[in-house]
Amino acid sequence: MNFLQIIYLIASLTFVIGIKMLGKPESARRGNLIAAFGMTIAIFGTIFLYEGIKTSNYIWIFGGLIVGTVIGTLMAKKVKMTGMPQMVSFFNGMGGACAGIISLVEFDHILHTGPFTDADPVKLGIIFLGLVIGSISFAGSMIAFGKLVEKIKDKVLPLQQVVNIGLLLLILGIAAAATLGYITTPNVLFLILALSLLYGVLFVMPIGGADMPVVISLLNSFTGVAAAMGGFLYDNKVMLFGGILVGSAGTLLTVVMCKAMNRSLTNVLIGNFGGGSKDAGEGKAITGSIKEISKSDAAVLMKYSKKVVIVPGYGLAVAQAQHICHELEQVLEDEGVEVKYAIHPVAGRMPGHMNVLLAESNVSYDKLIEMDDINPEFKTTDVVLIVGANDVVNPAAKNDPSSPIYGMPILDVEDAAHTIVMKRSMKAGYAGIENELFFSPKNSMLFGDAKKTLTELVSELKSL
Ligand code: NDP
Repeated sequence: MNFLQIIYLIASLTFVIGIKMLGKPESARRGNLIAAFGMTIAIFGTIFLYEGIKTSNYIWIFGGLIVGTVIGTLMAKKVKMTGMPQMVSFFNGMGGACAGIISLVEFDHILHTGPFTDADPVKLGIIFLGLVIGSISFAGSMIAFGKLVEKIKDKVLPLQQVVNIGLLLLILGIAAAATLGYITTPNVLFLILALSLLYGVLFVMPIGGADMPVVISLLNSFTGVAAAMGGFLYDNKVMLFGGILVGSAGTLLTVVMCKAMNRSLTNVLIGNFGGGSKDAGEGKAITGSIKEISKSDAAVLMKYSKKVVIVPGYGLAVAQAQHICHELEQVLEDEGVEVKYAIHPVAGRMPGHMNVLLAESNVSYDKLIEMDDINPEFKTTDVVLIVGANDVVNPAAKNDPSSPIYGMPILDVEDAAHTIVMKRSMKAGYAGIENELFFSPKNSMLFGDAKKTLTELVSELKSL
């Protein structure tokens, strides 16, 4: 085993250790640094020790490295916590694009040695597969990015699923025919590229309602698999290992998300999501009246409660109210109230969003209770304080088959004695639908920005 292979082995180990450490908020930052160290030695090991690299190419390699590092660092420094999901989606798309470009370059290398039909069919197959998966991941991630920044709206074409399945089969058929020598023109590569990009757009375009988390994790696994194809092509162990790790982690996350959203994996793969399904509509219109509660009444209600459950949602991240939320929890506990947080798997805008946010303000990890464990507890809860959450507590998911979130398990907050919803207006959440909970006789609305309202609630509690 030469020195470069040892470096690759160490780098691969750091990826595994890093991923393991990402599983806990206390060790996540260190885990990230360890994996980043592994990636750094793998990159520099390849540049300086891989025999095939000519020193005359260093100018291009380091030029690209510097440009990429500067752009990546500036973006990461500038991004707000609420902008993280779209940045993750964008970076994932760049990974897919890189994998696709590797296939384009390697195909060009083959053409330099003669007709591509003379090349090893296994190598050709890997090149085409890398191009297909990488391009789908790139185009799909760009559409997901557009949706997360709310610049692209869900769009369902007539016969969308038939078109999607037909297009996917066509792409795979053309790639197989070219691999086996039935298509001889090298331009087939551009046809596969164009159709794969189109499929990526059509695949993500109809996904609506609350199904974005599933598609984001699926695209993530696509990028991993596409990168692994590059590892096969170059016989590069660390690239193969890293790609497989991302691919399998993304697939596991997709399965977990599917379970959380009550969707089948097959439906995900053919683009038959809630928002895009033929039965899903806008949800039924809700009539009725809401009642508001003052901060002082809300403070009194909570102070004299035995148990309060806080439901954090995307609005908590927007308001950056996690620190004051933690203070509210401490003030209530000083009064002898038992406080827990109910964590819905798709609350916020990225998997684990609420865990990351609350860990940032040092909320104890054992207070964060997953949906399945907290749901039976709502019956014995006096007050549920819903801070900037909406879709994850919308009963339409259980009672309205025309709703785009129908079938998604939600937090059963209506089982508690009282619910208080803290948000700025009556506007809908991500899925764009009204929420019947707001009109329930057991519910009160506490309008305002979450940070400001929580700050005032804490002062009210302290003055009681
Ligand atoms: P929602 O998007 O359903 O609702 C958030 C609510 O927060 C809004 O109704 C908004 O109401 C309120 N809000 C916004 N800013 C503030 C503020 N400053 N102060 C107080 N309230 C505020 O969030 P949920 O977390 O309940 O649900 C997440 C949704 O996002 C789901 O539909 C999920 O599928 C989707 N999604 C999740 C992803 C993930 O991986 N977790 C990825 C992509 C999408 P108002 O404007 O009136 O204040």
